[in-house]
Amino acid sequence: MTATYTPRPPIWCAGCGHFGVQSALITALREAGVPQHQVLILAGIGCSGTIQNNLGTYGYHALHGRVLPAATGAALADPALTVVAAGGDGDGYAIGAGHLVHTFRRNPAFTYLLMNNATYGLTKGQDSPTAALIHPEHREGALDGILLGLGITASTFLARGYSGHPEQLVRLVAAALEHARSGKGFGFVEVLSPCVTYQDTYPLWNSAVYDLDTAAGYDPTDRSGAFAACLRVMGEGRIPIGLVYRGGPAAFVPDPAPARATLSGLRSQYESIMAGYRA
Ligand code: SF4
Ligand code: MG
Repeated sequence: MTATYTPRPPIWCAGCGHFGVQSALITALREAGVPQHQVLILAGIGCSGTIQNNLGTYGYHALHGRVLPAATGAALADPALTVVAAGGDGDGYAIGAGHLVHTFRRNPAFTYLLMNNATYGLTKGQDSPTAALIHPEHREGALDGILLGLGITASTFLARGYSGHPEQLVRLVAAALEHARSGKGFGFVEVLSPCVTYQDTYPLWNSAVYDLDTAAGYDPTDRSGAFAACLRVMGEGRIPIGLVYRGGPAAFVPDPAPARATLSGLRSQYESIMAGYRA
């Protein structure tokens, strides 16, 4: 847990796509007028997982692949808090993939920024679950978080941005924040965020992205239409970006009171156990 409000300079390589994600988040939070002390950024493991060290908000560095359960707990415990989870494609699509599935299904009200660079940057460029985005001949197919979310009908907000399209990225992050902050549910934004050191995908993705936001007749409230459009674009070897889907069933808005009551009970049990060790 970050103990102070003093952010540190990012440790990222010059040109890393994560700078664009951080900039978009800061701009979107500022435009929404959310004070820093009402924001909690939770991050996973990897280069992207250091984002919470760079921002003057509350911060929490979760276990590898476990940022979504921690963020769900925070969002349920304090609905007034603006909760933002962040992590990479390894954290969210490999070790944490099961949590992503169930977070789509539960639809808790927080935002998740998944920085997808199709590689394991922190450990020097091994293949990740989205490596086929860079290597189409790869023996393993890429996991597509947007299609995954579309296939879980309780999902309510699905977008894909690109660090190379900063103005659109701010709009998408702002829309996800608004979706979560207004209690509609889980705002999922996958960001194509190139790792310039081990897999510089800027040249590839500059020409591969296909912007659904400007596609004639595209309706982001039509789940089956969104699915068909994404498959068509991907079939042409391109990557759909933009606001893919917004809508779905009513958000899961739990009553936080029982959770707090349970937690306070657990605390007294915990203190009793710890006192036993000290005796
Ligand atoms: Fe970014 Fe890659 Fe450097 Fe990590 S190794 S900071 S992902 S450019
Ligand atoms: Mg990665």
